[in-house]
Amino acid sequence: MKEDTALDITLRPKYLKDYIGQEKVKEQISLFIEASKKKSEVLDHVLINGPPGLGKTTLAQVIANELKKNIVFTSGPLLEKKGDLAGILSQLEEGDILFIDEIHRLNPSVEETLYPAIEDFRIDIIIGKGSSSRTVRIELPRFTLIGATTRAGMLTSPLLSRFGIVLNMDFYDITSLKSVILRSAKILSIEITEEGAFEIAKRSRGTPRTANRLLKRVHDYSVVHYSGKIDKKIAQEALEFFEIDENGLDQNDKRYLFTLVKRFGGKPVGLSTLSSALSESKSTIEELIEPYLLREGYIERTPKGRIPTEKAIKLF
Ligand code: ADP
Repeated sequence: MKEDTALDITLRPKYLKDYIGQEKVKEQISLFIEASKKKSEVLDHVLINGPPGLGKTTLAQVIANELKKNIVFTSGPLLEKKGDLAGILSQLEEGDILFIDEIHRLNPSVEETLYPAIEDFRIDIIIGKGSSSRTVRIELPRFTLIGATTRAGMLTSPLLSRFGIVLNMDFYDITSLKSVILRSAKILSIEITEEGAFEIAKRSRGTPRTANRLLKRVHDYSVVHYSGKIDKKIAQEALEFFEIDENGLDQNDKRYLFTLVKRFGGKPVGLSTLSSALSESKSTIEELIEPYLLREGYIERTPKGRIPTEKAIKLF
């Protein structure tokens, strides 16, 4: 298991009361959870949309815990064949939750199998080959599908329209990230001051996963050079040592902005050109790098391409 994945699991809040920030999303989902309990009905299908590391998987687990139901995790790219999905669906029980990460990456034939499963709670599978083949219908218990995506715009409209609840996640503000860091430090028994947590929060790119990773790195630095404790000065020193920019921009962000500002001189640049200039896939650029830069006002998307703003130009 990758270290980040193990860390993610250890630090995952279990219930809504521990889930920091995303107030609007929490208000909405807690209402739907309460309604489903009061009506004794299975929760409607939920789509969670937002950039990586913001807590989509965590929220799905929180929903399952709040409903006291089992959750099965899978992802779009893992479900290669119809049979992979059928195998998972046939093991679900009434009210269970099926979580599909990166649901915009489902293969079209698997997606088609999913439609009747989530609409009418049945699947048709073909047994045998050629003239002796026959279709067998499997009735499924009512379950809740929770789909997570970094690109709601890439979902096909038939799939999108089958989600009764759509939750849009946004980047976290610094106060929420500071709370994430203080909470994680407590769980990991890391001694940290409020100011130390604030320094890390500022550079966490609006993302809890980054905040947790930086906390661990800064702690490593302090263990080697100090007593393991983290205060403002130690945090600043460590973050400088790791070359984490004051504005929370990471190496990818800086390379991206440098390319727009210096290499292309601030002129509009199309996605394909950027992709080859940076040797990064278009999806990495659109899903990982650009959302934060757009939100923080470093770039703008125009019909002719991406342009850097004054804020980005000033950096260089
Ligand atoms: P995503 O599925 O959106 O990529 P995850 O759910 O895996 O993100 O979240 C990454 C990590 O960030 C989690 O393990 C958790 O430790 C932390 N995290 C995410 N959201 C929150 C939150 N609202 N409160 C506290 N920690 C969070």
